[in-house]
Amino acid sequence: MPQRDEVLSTPLQFLKGVGPRRSADLARVGLLTVEDLLYRFPIRYEDRSHLQPIAALRPGHMVSVMGRISSSGLRSTRRPGFKIFEALVTDASGSVRVAWLNQPFLRDVFSSGQQVVLFGLAEMRGHGGLQLTNPQYEILDEEDGETVHTGRIVPIYEKTGSVSAKIQRKLVHDVLQRLPADLPDQLPESIRLRLELPPRRAALLAAHFPSADASVDRLNRFETPAQRRLIFEEAFLFQTGILARRQVAAGESKPYSIQIDERIRESARRVLPFKLTPGQRHTLKEIVEDLQQPRPMNRLLQGDVGSGKTIVALLAALVAMENGLQVAFMAPTEILAEQHFINISRLLQPSRFRVALLTGSTGAAARKAHLAEVESGALHLVVGTHALVQGDVRFKQLGLVVIDEQHRFGVLQRAALRAKGLRPDVLVMTATPIPRTLALTLYGDLDVSVIRDTPPGRQPIKTVAKPESRRNEVHQFVRGQLDLGRQAYVIYPLVEESEKVDLKAATEMADHLTQEVFTQYRVGLLHGRLKTDGKERVMKAFAAGDLQVLVSTTVVEVGVDVANASVMVIEHAERFGLSQLHQLRGRVGRDRHQSYCLLIYHSPLSDEARGRLRAMTDTTDGFEIAERDLALRGAGDFFGTRQAGVPTFRLIDLVRDRDLLQLAHEEAARWFGSAVPAPGAIADLLQAWEARFKLIDVG
Ligand code: ADP
Ligand code: MG
Repeated sequence: MPQRDEVLSTPLQFLKGVGPRRSADLARVGLLTVEDLLYRFPIRYEDRSHLQPIAALRPGHMVSVMGRISSSGLRSTRRPGFKIFEALVTDASGSVRVAWLNQPFLRDVFSSGQQVVLFGLAEMRGHGGLQLTNPQYEILDEEDGETVHTGRIVPIYEKTGSVSAKIQRKLVHDVLQRLPADLPDQLPESIRLRLELPPRRAALLAAHFPSADASVDRLNRFETPAQRRLIFEEAFLFQTGILARRQVAAGESKPYSIQIDERIRESARRVLPFKLTPGQRHTLKEIVEDLQQPRPMNRLLQGDVGSGKTIVALLAALVAMENGLQVAFMAPTEILAEQHFINISRLLQPSRFRVALLTGSTGAAARKAHLAEVESGALHLVVGTHALVQGDVRFKQLGLVVIDEQHRFGVLQRAALRAKGLRPDVLVMTATPIPRTLALTLYGDLDVSVIRDTPPGRQPIKTVAKPESRRNEVHQFVRGQLDLGRQAYVIYPLVEESEKVDLKAATEMADHLTQEVFTQYRVGLLHGRLKTDGKERVMKAFAAGDLQVLVSTTVVEVGVDVANASVMVIEHAERFGLSQLHQLRGRVGRDRHQSYCLLIYHSPLSDEARGRLRAMTDTTDGFEIAERDLALRGAGDFFGTRQAGVPTFRLIDLVRDRDLLQLAHEEAARWFGSAVPAPGAIADLLQAWEARFKLIDVG
């Protein structure tokens, strides 16, 4: 890792113009040092070297203009308390009206004679003139240098508390002047030259204060060489860290070894209820090869809902158990843990292995007994929620940890295991297909196995979206399916903020469905507030076919498996995320029957909601759904913002910069392969890496 530069590591509070208040505001968004400040791109760029004359403005365009305030004042409107601050701004060519709605404090901000730069939408107003409404503004002081805030392409930064775009521009400009000419470059020079990327210092200068001939359009798409060089740098450093982690992991060894022999193969055949699909066979082979390695396995098993990941994990568990090891099998919710427990107990019946369920609602006495048996080794496989590795559970010899639906909490579990000094084999499973570049980035230190096929005889699920005004047709259709002997889910959204209201709505709908819509059928209600045994009773009744319709809040989201259910009705489909909708749809289509997913929505739909519904009706391919989800939401929301284990990038936009991520991945691998750093260097690199990307330990 290159040595730190003195200017870059200067705390921002030591800069001229940064007092305690501003440094606190900057710190709040993670800007502590000069380096942090310089590695925060402008949100956009504005060409103030060729500002349009006011007389040439056209309505309907985003415009920037510069002029002087010739008059201004606060105007009351007929709406009580609603005030408009108006100003007339004049340049050599003419004047334009500017209005800010409901921001009376602007009276104390602007005064006549001030020089201002405005950026906003030019609109035609009723009185026939042009107006800028609520534009962004900057007031230029007389002493402001022509070269910083005007007369050039200027960077516009996101305001952070008391630090306006303009203050930040000044700060950045000042520190850029102080960067040493020999600023250390974090990119290996050979790579930089081959890829024709500008040096670090030049890139920093040009990314903040572009030269006059730079293209504002390209700047705003973050496609100039300077910007790409800095984005690449971050991606390269990130990938190098990942490789260093892998290198460290490859050198670790587990305190046991696993062998495969004919006896174990026979034992697997005994529990296997069906023939594995090629995808299942292939991934199982990869997993079992890992198990036999001296280093701990760190593998992600990806497969769309219904692709049959559970049996693959169970066969891996069997291998571990046949080698005298214990297995922890974790699910994100109690319901899922219970389901896994039921399934696994049934599947392991022909074996000698003993299985227990350990969740938050396991009674104290049972828990104590289980814990003793886990510690003595009498229990071979424990199914549970995250409490399994975080709490007081002590295993005699833990060999394998299976984590279902990893994207929800797997990362933390792996960290908890490490904290306990355990180095078992870890298999995380997810039904959320991760687009490839993202997988490289997020799970770069995991090996990935993918099941792409589905068990034989499955037909694609037919999906339609209907406005709620046509709910009757949907119910009619559901009754038809029930009459054919199928079962149906009706799902209600339940968001935390309005849990009470939603729960009431779900309960009322269940009553309505029971008493008015499905009078001839047996309807059950499942929600998070039910006690565990209550949930279990409802789930069991539905699984056994005693209930025909299951009205549920999203607790059935993942994993629930009732093969005879062929209809999934989702109420308020517009309120669900795309991956959630896809997960829910995956609850049906688990057998040979044609299955249906009916999305009921409430208008008006946002563009994004419309996009989600369209994606659902267009395709059932989980990978395509994931791509669309990513495109619709952007990467931040794709994984939930600031979810543990998702790196915090300063410059990289996981959607926009996918090509650079891919390139960095390849370059880092090549570099790491040719110039293997010394172990000490790797430790340093990792330390810097973890601090910079603020990752908790996912290795
Ligand atoms: P997921 O990958 O979503 O966790 P599951 O493991 O729950 O999927 O499997 C979905 C359903 O498919 C289960 O009912 C399971 O028993 C069944 N299944 C899995 N593999 C096969 C197979 N090879 N042949 C037939 N059915 C299978
Ligand atoms: Mg599953």
